[in-house]
Amino acid sequence: SVMDTDFLALLERAKQADANPKADDLRFDGQVAVVTGAGGGLGKAYALLFAKLGASVVVNDLGGSATGQGSDSRAADLVVDEIRKAGGKAVANYDSVEEGDKVVETALKAFGRIDIVVNNAGILRDKSFARMTDADWDLVHRVHLRGTYKVVQAAWPHFVKQKYGRIINTASAVGLYGNFGQTNYSAAKLGVVGFTKTLALEGQRKNIIANVIAPNAGTRMTATVMPPEMVEAFKPEYVAPLVAYLGHSSNEDTGGIFEVGSGWIAKVRWQRTGGYGFPANRELTPEQVADKWARITNFEDGRATNPETTQDSLQSFMENFGNVEEEE
Ligand code: NAD
Repeated sequence: SVMDTDFLALLERAKQADANPKADDLRFDGQVAVVTGAGGGLGKAYALLFAKLGASVVVNDLGGSATGQGSDSRAADLVVDEIRKAGGKAVANYDSVEEGDKVVETALKAFGRIDIVVNNAGILRDKSFARMTDADWDLVHRVHLRGTYKVVQAAWPHFVKQKYGRIINTASAVGLYGNFGQTNYSAAKLGVVGFTKTLALEGQRKNIIANVIAPNAGTRMTATVMPPEMVEAFKPEYVAPLVAYLGHSSNEDTGGIFEVGSGWIAKVRWQRTGGYGFPANRELTPEQVADKWARITNFEDGRATNPETTQDSLQSFMENFGNVEEEE
């Protein structure tokens, strides 16, 4: 288990390490960042960091419960106060991300532009699949996937016009790998990955960069599943620097998936086995598939590749049309 004694010892040492307040070369003066769901948890850490680095920040938060009920302007207001007290620039927005145009409108009204969008707002409606209701499914999709789409939709024309934009969307390891009780959430989160990859392609020539993160952090959302020591240890402040970097003009990496938490950051890509090409001019039967199953599923034979584009993916299929068996 992650909570064994080694882990606790590591935690003790991490706690004693100094915070490193240096290295503020990556600044955002004159830029405007919209952070959704910034009234708490990860979003709050992003908003505080962007503001500290000179950005004007729209702190969006609906202020509802972790399961998406109710609303309250206090969540966003408290973060705005905190930023202003520290000498930063911020305004609050209390709309649901489902009304992305209003969120972006707040940035334009208050600061006259928009440069960075961090789609972070989120809720959970965990249920085993047998008990999943349409309401649980739809609400999770509306906030995570449709909300992300609506905010980007409103920001996009401004990004295109100014030939500059940085988008950081939020997926989850649960979207990449699955998790019991989260069919709704994992589907929405992998949806965010596909959305981001296509945005990256469409934005590339216009200097609009889009990446997606799968964070791990102790927040209200994870407090229900993580032990308290983990909630305390997995500080959102470990995640925020990656989001700031991805939001900066110096980052030109786009379409990337990053896992991040506890100070550890990694990039994720797809891997595909070398596969097995059956003759394209012969009838293919389920028995033949069964017969070659070990080859089809073998990642360890040195033939696996990492397709990066849909074209890369299609290549092997096209090639297999040349795999023709002579008549005997
Ligand atoms: P959190 O509950 O602390 O923060 C989410 C915030 O979003 C809340 O302040 C909430 O009020 C706000 N919000 C919810 N619905 C909204 C809506 N419709 N419009 C505007 N704001 C809304 O949770 P968190 O852990 O900080 O999660 C942030 C993001 O990271 C979420 O997208 C979550 O799915 C994702 N994520 C978190 C973890 C983790 O370990 N914490 C893991 C994977 C993914």
